[in-house]
Amino acid sequence: MFPEWPRLATRANVERVSELSYAGGCRCGAVRYEALPPACNLCFCHCTSCRRAAGATPVAWATFTGSKFRITHGRLAETRSSAHVLRGFCAACGTCLTYRHDARGEEIDVTLGSLDEPARLTPVMHLWVEDKLPWVTIADELPQFSRGHSAPAA
Ligand SMILES: [Zn+2]
Ligand SMILES: [Zn+2]
Repeated sequence: MFPEWPRLATRANVERVSELSYAGGCRCGAVRYEALPPACNLCFCHCTSCRRAAGATPVAWATFTGSKFRITHGRLAETRSSAHVLRGFCAACGTCLTYRHDARGEEIDVTLGSLDEPARLTPVMHLWVEDKLPWVTIADELPQFSRGHSAPAA
């Protein structure tokens, strides 16, 4: 049984919601976003496409429901990194922010590194380990998948 949702958006309720949300943005501050839980598919992605897009590897990601993600300031620039993938970034400073796949149209992936409080979410698996570079050593006990994988909401 869910508690009844407050009918009035009192100041206390608004603050409670914003406390639960995940805010983030690019390095220069031109693009800001907000996402509401749940976050799922928390992962380190070792794939070549993420490495190129971020200029770093691995890249940590969280998946949010698309309708629970919004840009709160500025404009998200997007580029097609493969036939079915749109990657979002800041056109002013280049920070890699989001990933959308046509096959998962209701979802959006967000870089954990662009969150204001990135330590609130922790990756639970390694994806695309077949693309992992030899100088990256996985020193944790998290599950590793040679390619992509989806996990239930965390
Ligand atoms: Zn920026
Ligand atoms: Zn990737």
